[in-house]
Amino acid sequence: MKIEKNVLIMSLFPNEITKLFDETFNTFKSYEQENPEKFIDSLSDKIEGIAVMGGTNVSGELIKKLPKLKIIANYGVGYDSVDIKQATLSNVKVTNTPNVLNDEVADTAVALTLCIYKNINFANKFLLEKKWLKSEYPLSKKFSGTKFGILGMGRIGKTIAKRIEAFNCEICYHSRNQKEVEYKYFSKLEELAEYVDTLCVITPGGEETKYLVNSNILQKLGQNGFLINIARGSVVDQKALIHALKNKIIRGAGLDVFENEPNVPEDLMNLDNVILTPHIGSATVETRYDMGKLVYDNVLKMLTKNSTISPVN
Ligand code: NAP
Repeated sequence: MKIEKNVLIMSLFPNEITKLFDETFNTFKSYEQENPEKFIDSLSDKIEGIAVMGGTNVSGELIKKLPKLKIIANYGVGYDSVDIKQATLSNVKVTNTPNVLNDEVADTAVALTLCIYKNINFANKFLLEKKWLKSEYPLSKKFSGTKFGILGMGRIGKTIAKRIEAFNCEICYHSRNQKEVEYKYFSKLEELAEYVDTLCVITPGGEETKYLVNSNILQKLGQNGFLINIARGSVVDQKALIHALKNKIIRGAGLDVFENEPNVPEDLMNLDNVILTPHIGSATVETRYDMGKLVYDNVLKMLTKNSTISPVN
């Protein structure tokens, strides 16, 4: 059934989701355009809904240009690339995709943790380069039974913790408020960092959490400590992190997110105590479909019933 509503699609979605949008609405795809800004300008009096993935900015300026806009449906749980203040001022609903990605992101956090403890990517390289024929691979560090700290005990933080329980780790956390969980709470991040072997970052991004993990926190994490960042690049001071990794102030890092994606500093790429992935926390066919479907359902509900499923404002 076609609904005569105009939806701007600003990022590439899974094919089935794009098809759903195309079958239901009049769709306009700015990500396919050579000059997306000019394209959007030519539609400014038409657009009623936006579907967008984090990484593509929805600025206040853009929101102000679209007088008929009712919803910005963000494909992702983190919505730090949407100007939420301006959206609220302009009476535009913003939605995100919570919960449907908890398992996936938690799986990625565990994968990064095991990879960096066991040096999996270097072991793989060692074998492919036929170095095994000449010597044994150096011993790595045991993960089971260590102290695991979570910065941000939210939906994904709790899902990570459940998995980590299976490794007999002592699980500890810091967030601004103590949660109803049995894990050890630290009201100060630096005390958590000093106590644990692994610090796993899973807070939202944006100004409020910018550089929560700075040189002081890395110093506290210490020379046997590992940092896992699966949250946003902005939460960790990347320069301070590179310095800490180079100078063995911390032992290693598993990073899925970076300060200026998709640019990753060569300095970081050249280190042998890191594992780096291109923001793949939720990136499987199954989870991206579920996220895309929630984006679609939010747009549909807003443009037909004036309500949403997962609003953030
Ligand atoms: P959530 O349920 O809102 O949890 C966020 C947690 O962070 C809460 O426990 C919150 O607790 C804590 N927090 C917020 N600000 C803080 C601060 N200034 N200091 C300390 N703790 C703070 O969100 P979620 O669904 O778990 O998602 C978390 C984030 O993961 C997203 O916002 C996104 O940035 C990131 N993410 C990344 C990927 C990826 O592909 N790598 C995928 C999905 C999500 P308090 O309010 O008590 O502080």
